[in-house]
Amino acid sequence: MCLNNNQTVVSKVRTVILILSLMLIAPITLVPFQVTYSPLFDGDNAFSYLTDQCDFGPRPPGSENLSECREYIFNTLVQEGWTVSFQNFTYRSVDCVNIIATWPVQNSTITVLGAHYDTRPHADQESDPEDRTRPVLGANDGASGVAALLELARVLPEAIRSSIEMVFFDAEDSGYIDDWDWIVGSTHYVDQLTSSKRESITAMILLDMIGDVNLRIPREASSTDSLQDRLWSIAADLGHDDVFLDTPGSSILDDHRPFLAAGIPAVDLIHTPFPWTWHTLQDTPDNCSPESLEAVGRVVEYFLVELTASTVSTTPFPTDPPIDFALIITIALPLAIVAIVALVFFKRR
Ligand SMILES: [Zn+2]
Repeated sequence: MCLNNNQTVVSKVRTVILILSLMLIAPITLVPFQVTYSPLFDGDNAFSYLTDQCDFGPRPPGSENLSECREYIFNTLVQEGWTVSFQNFTYRSVDCVNIIATWPVQNSTITVLGAHYDTRPHADQESDPEDRTRPVLGANDGASGVAALLELARVLPEAIRSSIEMVFFDAEDSGYIDDWDWIVGSTHYVDQLTSSKRESITAMILLDMIGDVNLRIPREASSTDSLQDRLWSIAADLGHDDVFLDTPGSSILDDHRPFLAAGIPAVDLIHTPFPWTWHTLQDTPDNCSPESLEAVGRVVEYFLVELTASTVSTTPFPTDPPIDFALIITIALPLAIVAIVALVFFKRR
């Protein structure tokens, strides 16, 4: 009995040691099978890039303020080791410039990150007609996307920078003013791509109006679904599903459209319905927040690190299928016939 008792005690002690050992070993053995990357994007630092741009004042195309802001973006990127070039073009007699940042050695496949750095010349959403010709400061609509790109330029791991190209578009936001078009800079950038360069772009991510204090980004309707799925999944994993809403959003004419038209998977991260400050004199830094910039910046950072680490050799983001007109006809035509017959029948009665 005594021996038995001793055996029971020994076996219980062994079991406890075994369980404790498993508890200790389990986390260590599980770690290598998880994606372990903690984003470094800092919202406060990004916010300082936003206020720096606003300090130049409103920045419409062709203005001295925009030239100064361009130099600021150039210097900030060069300080972080990026190679920066200016893509000059003229639109309606105004000298415009896209800013392009690449890592000194570029990979055969890249992701393009985009944001417009110009601001709207007129606050035409103001209620007072006298205010509607005053220029917008563009803390959210202009500076926020640029701020996030500059912070990414600072924190992205050097190992993945050769797979990134950052483009700061000019002349996005003057549509309907003096017969200007929208998205002029991005249209020019895509027009200038050689076919081999176009084929090297795996994905395009556009950041536009991502700084509002109450930031809400639904799934913009024209964006590539497969690309959107991945970003929204990461957002949920990082706890930012309060910003990245898993709901359908509107279709927006924005700088991602020329990329989509060229067959490049593209996504527009944009606040819709547009915040109340949109194209008003209230688009100022006090209506923006570091937390909003950080939520978007960290999701994009994680996405880029994961994409570059993945071993997928083929296009990871299939483009959306074109609208199936045959399917529409097979469904819509019989419905239309039934509706007409029903209408005639009820009219006769
Ligand atoms: Zn705008």
